[in-house]
Amino acid sequence: AGDLMKGKRGLVMGVANKNSIAWGIAQQLHAQGAELAFSYQDEALEKRVRPLVESLGGEPFMVTADVTDDASMEACFKTIEDRWGRLDFLVHAIAFAGKDELQGSFTHNTTREGFKRAMDVSAFSFVDAARRASALMPSREEGGGAMISMTYLGSERVVPNYNVMGVAKAALEASTRYIARDLGPAGIRVNAISAGPMRTLAMAGISGGRTLMKTGKDWSMLKEDTTMEGVAGAALYLLSDLGKSCTGEVLHVDAGFHAVAVPDIEE
Ligand code: NAD
Repeated sequence: AGDLMKGKRGLVMGVANKNSIAWGIAQQLHAQGAELAFSYQDEALEKRVRPLVESLGGEPFMVTADVTDDASMEACFKTIEDRWGRLDFLVHAIAFAGKDELQGSFTHNTTREGFKRAMDVSAFSFVDAARRASALMPSREEGGGAMISMTYLGSERVVPNYNVMGVAKAALEASTRYIARDLGPAGIRVNAISAGPMRTLAMAGISGGRTLMKTGKDWSMLKEDTTMEGVAGAALYLLSDLGKSCTGEVLHVDAGFHAVAVPDIEE
């Protein structure tokens, strides 16, 4: 525990269960004194998220936000504005693509609808949330703000079955840079964390996920799985004042996997 986030209020979008990356990040921010609001996709998830949020103690602040629904997003940020009047940071950990699209040939299995949906939920949602969140952030003189989103190496290089999600992550990373430039003069920093494979619900939707996990460890420089601790630590860095001067960045937290071109050769 510490006080790196003391006096800061933030919205965490994307907790579905205890394995969610958003939850790992939230616990770390809470331990550093942040005050948190949580948005969840729908009522079904509310039941699962509530006990987690309650476990942090204090009065739970939870709001619905389906990122594909303008009215729902509007209502979510209105609730935050009414209750807090301001927002210091945003955590975006949301993505979706249909199961049919997350296997086999990208060229043959990507439909117009599937492409649009993956882009809408996984990339545009950050643009939309960033616009709404930035309107509530303090001025540069009063400390500005910070935002992060979650991405994966499939945006830069081809990963089997990741397919349309890789394309959506490329759009998310590019959006991160454009948003960072727009909001920079206001003192708002915008970054992405490119995490190695982690066992979550979203991961379970990717065909061959187990192989991705194993390769992610075996080919990594550290010879270990990406840890929630590492990802949450990176989030703390980027969202706290430790991250000053860092914006428009995609920070890889993947045990060094992204920089390896050829796996170990044993001979
Ligand atoms: P997760 O399933 O726990 O989280 C995904 C979240 O997206 C869920 O909370 C879900 O409710 C939310 N979501 C989906 N559609 C939504 C909608 N229409 N409106 C609102 N919320 C919606 O899985 P996770 O692995 O924690 O994923 C979080 C982020 O991390 C995603 O962006 C994912 O792509 C990224 N990521 C995951 C890994 C990994 O290996 N798990 C690696 C790198 C990046």
